[in-house]
Amino acid sequence: LQPFGAAALNLPMVGEAGSRARLETPAAVLDLEIFERNIATLAQTCKRAGIGFRPHAKSHKCAEIARRQMAAGASGICCAKPGELLALFEGGANDLMLSAPIASPAKIDALARAAAKGARIGVVVDRLDLVAAYAAAAARHATRFDVFVDLDTGLKRSGVANAQEAVALARAVTCEANLRYVGVQAYQGKVQHIDDFAARRAANAEASRTLRDMLTVLEQAGLKPGIVSGGGTGSHLLDCEEKVLTEVQPGSYVFMDEAYNSVDVYGRGGPEFGPALRVAVTVVGHSSAGFAITDGGSKSFALDGPAPRVFLGTELVGRIEWCGDEFGRVLPEAGRSTLAIGTVVECTVPHCDPTTNLHDFLHVVSGDSLVALWRVEARGRAD
Ligand code: PLP
Ligand code: MN
Repeated sequence: LQPFGAAALNLPMVGEAGSRARLETPAAVLDLEIFERNIATLAQTCKRAGIGFRPHAKSHKCAEIARRQMAAGASGICCAKPGELLALFEGGANDLMLSAPIASPAKIDALARAAAKGARIGVVVDRLDLVAAYAAAAARHATRFDVFVDLDTGLKRSGVANAQEAVALARAVTCEANLRYVGVQAYQGKVQHIDDFAARRAANAEASRTLRDMLTVLEQAGLKPGIVSGGGTGSHLLDCEEKVLTEVQPGSYVFMDEAYNSVDVYGRGGPEFGPALRVAVTVVGHSSAGFAITDGGSKSFALDGPAPRVFLGTELVGRIEWCGDEFGRVLPEAGRSTLAIGTVVECTVPHCDPTTNLHDFLHVVSGDSLVALWRVEARGRAD
């Protein structure tokens, strides 16, 4: 731990009643009850529908959370980058899928080394040369990759949009002794953040029609995928209804953020999952205009989303307006007086994934107490 860093100063307070309101800040805070409810809600939705879930670790980058997702019934954990995957492997996770194609022989080799040490590593392919590169690396290390053919159903980021190309890729995978053709991935990213439930349902259904057509062609070629993976927090309920995917890949649901707060995830008028991730900040001064100034700006929050709501205990006291890399200004709720200097408040986050990437630890809180520090092993691993 960094001497005098917030985490080091907070560690001795673990287990102390009332410590939540005395945290050194800025500190990423995880509300354990809300978090556990989010984990359970997703697992229950999927189990009820008979669909699997392979949650995405791009949101949390934390091996302890991956462990809890596996304990809740996850079929594995998705990672966005090899660095993220390898950091979680070192943290103890051993069933990991890299959800994007890559182009680095050195990284492919590092993934094969992790597989050789006993991890089950899944990879996605959308080029024949990548199939060959994964096969060669797996052979070199006397190991095996699980391979998903990446399909593009409208995101236009990765994956093949042509079913014949998907057939050629799947066939190439089946020809390699060190690769196992386990299925396909089709991530319909554009659907996730459509706020309105009916509009999102229509958009998801359209992507699923495209996917179903490609699956038919694969099946006719004798290459029916065992796993059809995709989807996220915004679409998972729809995916559970449609049953075109056999498993979903939600990431944000563990934490939630302001960007998802307007998404009516379950069609009941709300996001369903609770805001488990907050950033605690301290009022460090009052501006000449009379506003409370806090000690967290763009180095503690990713700013790409609606402004954070500010909570004092369970009470909403204002919104943050940014005023620099290290500072925020509290715009108080109507009738609220300026917060006193030294007050610790908790702010929701505009966008969870790039926010956790800024923090070495999650300060896990239960009721009014700090109960644990969880390391964010893959923090900063965008490589
Ligand atoms: N799967 C893939 C391939 C993704 O890129 C993402 C997010 O970008 C997700 C799943 C998870 O999405 P969400 O955080 O919206 O649940
Ligand atoms: Mn995101």
